[in-house]
Amino acid sequence: MDAIVFLGIQGSGKGTQAKLLSELTGFRHVNIGELLRMQIHNGSDSGNLVKETITRGELVSDEMAISLIAKESNQASNGIIFDGFPRTQAQALVLLSKYNLLRVYYLDLSEEDAVERLSARRTCQNCGETYNLTTYRPKVENTCDSCQGLLFQRPDDEPEAIRKRIAEFFRQTHKLKDLFIQHGLLVAVSANASIDQIAEVIRQDVKSILPR
Ligand code: AMP
Repeated sequence: MDAIVFLGIQGSGKGTQAKLLSELTGFRHVNIGELLRMQIHNGSDSGNLVKETITRGELVSDEMAISLIAKESNQASNGIIFDGFPRTQAQALVLLSKYNLLRVYYLDLSEEDAVERLSARRTCQNCGETYNLTTYRPKVENTCDSCQGLLFQRPDDEPEAIRKRIAEFFRQTHKLKDLFIQHGLLVAVSANASIDQIAEVIRQDVKSILPR
């Protein structure tokens, strides 16, 4: 199965760009954070454990992340766009061995900018759309523009959890950049440009790997 990965610090815009690229390519967008949040809603013991882990800003186990991804990959599609996977070396090695990895887009954002973006982020509890209270406000306060769902602040977007998540990023995820450079797969894009500008850079690059 062909796969494309979005890698980057929390708040760098992986979800936004993964969604746009999915619309362009027809590849399925797989957002592992969203899959985990769905598990929480089923109220099972494992869901409660996931909730505690995520709220603390820690990563779930590699076993859980890898098995969730394996289930998703069984569904038919032209290819997959991974958003939030891999986050550890073990996950990256599974990806390299089981998928035809076409590209890894690294969205480059400073730690300071990431903290600022996450603190201002609000998420729709209904459809998952994200807003930013500084740069991308909803038209009506606390209300999603697309589905009128209520906006909330994810518990892991609160200061203590943000610090933990960013520390985990630098401890486990950042070094995957070098691994993918060694495999000739990494394309780094500045995450400070506008959503459209970033999408355009990616659109141009994707033409070289998916000639249509
Ligand atoms: P995200 O929505 O991508 O920020 O992910 C939310 C949370 O889900 C993370 O802070 C982790 O607790 C967990 N998570 C997401 N992706 C992974 C992964 N690949 N491996 C382990 N935990 C993950």
